[in-house]
Amino acid sequence: MSEKTFYLETFGCQMNVHDSEKVVGTLLQEGYRQVETVEQADLVLYNTCSIRDKAEQKVFNRLSDYKKYKKQGKTFGVLGCVAQQEGEKIFERAPYVSLVAGSASYHKLPQMLRQLEEAQSRNSVSDFASSTSTEGAPPFAVFEGWESMLPVANDLSAAKSTEKPVGKPTGVKSSGQKPVADSLIRITGLDDRETDKCFETEFTARTNPHRGYITIIEGCDKFCSYCVVPYTRGKERSRTSASVLAEARQMADLGYTEIQLLGQNVNSYKDSEGNSRLRKSFAELLAAVGEVPGIRRVRFTTSHPRDFGRDIVDAIDAVPTLCDHVHLPVQSGSTRMLDAMQRLYDRDQYLERIAWMKAAKREISITTDMIVGFPGETEADFAETLSLLDEVGYDAVFAFKYSPRPNTPSIKLEDAIPDEEKARRLDVLMARQREIQIIRYKKYIGSKCEVMVEGRNEARAQWIGRTTHNKTLNFTASATANPNTNPKAGSYVPVVVTGSFPNSLLGELVV
Ligand code: SAM
Ligand code: SF4
Repeated sequence: MSEKTFYLETFGCQMNVHDSEKVVGTLLQEGYRQVETVEQADLVLYNTCSIRDKAEQKVFNRLSDYKKYKKQGKTFGVLGCVAQQEGEKIFERAPYVSLVAGSASYHKLPQMLRQLEEAQSRNSVSDFASSTSTEGAPPFAVFEGWESMLPVANDLSAAKSTEKPVGKPTGVKSSGQKPVADSLIRITGLDDRETDKCFETEFTARTNPHRGYITIIEGCDKFCSYCVVPYTRGKERSRTSASVLAEARQMADLGYTEIQLLGQNVNSYKDSEGNSRLRKSFAELLAAVGEVPGIRRVRFTTSHPRDFGRDIVDAIDAVPTLCDHVHLPVQSGSTRMLDAMQRLYDRDQYLERIAWMKAAKREISITTDMIVGFPGETEADFAETLSLLDEVGYDAVFAFKYSPRPNTPSIKLEDAIPDEEKARRLDVLMARQREIQIIRYKKYIGSKCEVMVEGRNEARAQWIGRTTHNKTLNFTASATANPNTNPKAGSYVPVVVTGSFPNSLLGELVV
């Protein structure tokens, strides 16, 4: 039997990157081989992001090119947040797609893939629930649907009234799709927001051999008024601290030295450990991961200010392996806007958390996310966002123009700020932040930092390193250095900082 190959492209945040590692692990286990181009692949998968409209458009742009590939017999799948958000509408916009699966249903990927393969090898339509017989089966199979969230007609009778009958196999929910050509096999895996399942796969193919992600909490219950995440990633469900720690130990045994704990809101982690005496708070879990022998650096993202407790700063103070960096998204410096965004904290409460970090024993680098042009944002509100930049002194800001998203409460608000004005505010914000970063990065000159070596830039004859503050520090190793002590990717070396830029540092290896 010929080898099955797949190509996977990932869009979006670290959660998606890590989900893709789980998808790759699962596919390798199923006998697939990963290839680097669409041309080489039998199965082409896009792990998508829908946080902003631009991100969502990217996947449809990719899919629009691929009629020719379909003729070559390639199978296309859309995974992740756009899959969850758009559901079977994807089949209408991109009729060559055969598989649509949201992240909450990845645990069913092996079954979905086998179903797809079986159906394709029969070159006929198939039904996951009744795989022993395809007689009278519908033209595509439907996994447990997230019916309440799907923006498509969910009425089975509507499906029945279509010209080609769409059957409803026993025990399988239908979402009332439009009939499709018989030669197409379509499988959806759109799980319910009520799911309690975490996507813990046995098989994760981590791409970096030194630094790895561990998901500790999935989904989000915050429902910020602009955000699709609660609708695309489902409700919050935390893993047990025991399973997180077991994964951390396993990674340490494999030689990983840096772990990044992941979740849309790691601070609302609630240990699902059965024995209540063994349950850990997020800060306790963080400390415990930091104490795993062999682990030298622990990071975590993302923190929500509402749930960011002082105990997290205490843990950073107490456990040296916890990195000197916190990403604490604020979104706006105006309490009026924070209220409209349903962020559940005000400017003063946010600044209180900043003060805890500034009082820490080690200097903690603080970074944030901001949105400009949210409906109703006045010049005065925007001025408050700018003044927050000065007050906090961030080391990096990820700023975005407000993008109205489906299903979110703020889509009902008039998006009255023109795109040019959003773009202007974004430029003003980033220019101010650049000035702040120039000053902040300059103060490292002359100091000695430990960096984890990430690689080498041959063109510049520089090594690329990362500090505990999450800053890129590019450095040279002088010609007199002993070749045996040359830096290696994954090693930790001391570097003295000799220069600075707005987004990176320059240095020389200390020998
Ligand atoms: N959970 C994190 C938090 O609460 O800060 C953020 C997760 S979200 C994937 C990353 C960032 O995207 C947000 O912090 C926000 O700045 C931005 N974002 C989310 N929805 C947006 C929207 N509709 N328009 C523009 N930016 C958005
Ligand atoms: Fe979205 Fe708010 Fe949840 Fe972050 S906390 S993922 S911004 S809803």
